[in-house]
Parts: sequence; C-alpha cells; structure tokens
Amino acid sequence: MFGDHIVDNLIQEIKKLKKELDAVILVHNYQLPSIQDVADYIGDSLELSIKVAVEVNAKYIVFCGVDFMAEQVAVINRNAIVLHPDPSAQCPMANMITLEDVRRARKQYPNTPIVMYVNSPAIVKAESDYIVTSANAVNVVKAIDSDVIIFGPDRHLAEYVAEVTGKTVIPIPPNGHCPVHVKFNPFEITNLKTLYRDSIFIAHPECTADVKKQADFIGSTSQMIKFVRNCQCKHVLVGTEIGLIYRLARENPDKVFIPASTSAICLDMKKITIEKVYRSLKDKVYRVEVPEEIARRVVKAIENTYRVLGVEPPWSKK
Ligand code: SF4
Repeated sequence: MFGDHIVDNLIQEIKKLKKELDAVILVHNYQLPSIQDVADYIGDSLELSIKVAVEVNAKYIVFCGVDFMAEQVAVINRNAIVLHPDPSAQCPMANMITLEDVRRARKQYPNTPIVMYVNSPAIVKAESDYIVTSANAVNVVKAIDSDVIIFGPDRHLAEYVAEVTGKTVIPIPPNGHCPVHVKFNPFEITNLKTLYRDSIFIAHPECTADVKKQADFIGSTSQMIKFVRNCQCKHVLVGTEIGLIYRLARENPDKVFIPASTSAICLDMKKITIEKVYRSLKDKVYRVEVPEEIARRVVKAIENTYRVLGVEPPWSKK
C-alpha cells in the first residue's frame, strides 16, 4: 500500500501522461475508489462500450475492469490502442463458458437463437447470435422471435429472463454463475430488513432467485443508479458488488447505503491499482488485441441485438 502523498503524486503523473499521450481512462462501477477518482468515464460495461463507440476519439484507452470488458472495448473501437493495467484481472464467470459449449449447444438445438451475456470472452461472443447486458437481457429475449432461447454463461440471469419473459431459456453451461453475486444470503437480507425497517433492497439479476425474491428493485448497476437517484428512500440495502456503494454514496449524500453482504467483493476487479494505471500509461502496457475476424463477428452479434430491439447501433449514427 502507498502513502497518501505517493498516491497523489501518481494521480498527478497519470493526469500528465493522459494529456501527453492523448489517452482516456474508462472505469467500471466496481473499481476501487481511487481508480474511480481518476476516471474520464465511469459506468457498467454497456455504458462504457457506447461511450467508446460514440464519444471517444483518443489514441489510447486505459480500461480499468476485468479482461472481457477491455476486450469488448477493443472490439468496438478499432482505432484506439486499448490497454488493460493488469491482464490477470479476469472474470471467473466469463471463464466458465467455452467455445465448445456454444458449438455443442448449436449442434444440439440447431435452430435456437444463442444469446450471450456480455460477461464472456470475445471468441464465445463471436459464435453467438445476440449479446446482452444485465440491463437489456429481458427486453432482447422478449423481442427475439423464438419461444426457446439458449443463454450463457450466467444461469441466474438466464432463470430471471425465463421468469420475466415466460420463455424456455436453456443455460449454457448448466451452472455458470458469478461467484460474487451468489454470496448474498436470503437470511442475512431478512435480518438487515428487520434492522433497517424503512430500507429498500436493490438486487442485481446475477443474484440467486431466493435473494431476488426479496428485492424491491432488480436491475443492472446503471439501472440501480437511476432507481436510487429517483427514490424517496433513506436506507438502501445494496445487493451487488460493494464497489458500487462508493459511487452511490457520492451521488446521493442524503441517503445511507448498506452492503447486503460484506463479502460481495470481486477480487479480480480490485486487482487494478493506481500504481498499475500509472505503469499502464507510462509503459503502454498491456495491449489488448482482438483478431479482426473475431471482432467483426462480435460487432455483427451486437448489431443484431440493437436491431431486434428496433434501434440503430450507436456507431451507425456517428
Ligand atoms: S462481479 Fe462477478 S461477473 Fe462481475 S467481474 Fe466479478 S466475478 Fe465477474
């Protein structure tokens, strides 16, 4: 750990390097507070991808989050050099699905659309028909003209989508999950609700069904941010990775945020440190590269997704 003055110096150096190199820093909502403080853009993976598609013209993009998110940015912005400060920051759920899983499902259910959660490797997305986020998964599945859908890799999001849409959703792999969001426990939430009687509980769709049953609101991190902004509540029990609380508290000083589980920490997200961001800019490491053919097929699946929702992809309006 660094002392405050070292962190302050690094932040100053990062600001200088950003200007010199023509770089921007994109930061996921679950990142450490010190990383959120140096962000040019902060958001969930969908928000950040759209920013990259329509607003960012920088030469370098430093992506602070896990590997599949940095890869996604490299897929969408083919002009910038995308840097990931620590390639060992990987999403365990994204690593639960393989190309073989998708190919096997395609063979077993030949005419069934394959919907892939954005939390997956580019090579898996390239083999899929649609790419969704936790914010739009329900609407995309509703809009697809099929009563049966293959969905990977999060089985809890798949179950939620099936429940809301009434469609048959086949999860691939059968037990893909986020190790952080399965940590929420329904009994702990009941206890917290008893302790904070006026509280509301917001949950991410990656949580298990018995946790979501207790939620007053279910949504992605960006949907949670909007919901909290507009709600007349004092105490909010937060059912997602603990990093979101920093942003929620900063934006809503009149409200109190309580983690619904103190162990909901994504250690991979926390691997990005201010020192690594500095090194990333200084040494221009670690470059994220996605082969042209894979990127082309991923973009095609993303465009299919926008079109099934009846909207044009953001980059087509540029
Ligand atoms: S919180 Fe879960 S889904 Fe998100 S990066 Fe961490 S392990 Fe992956």
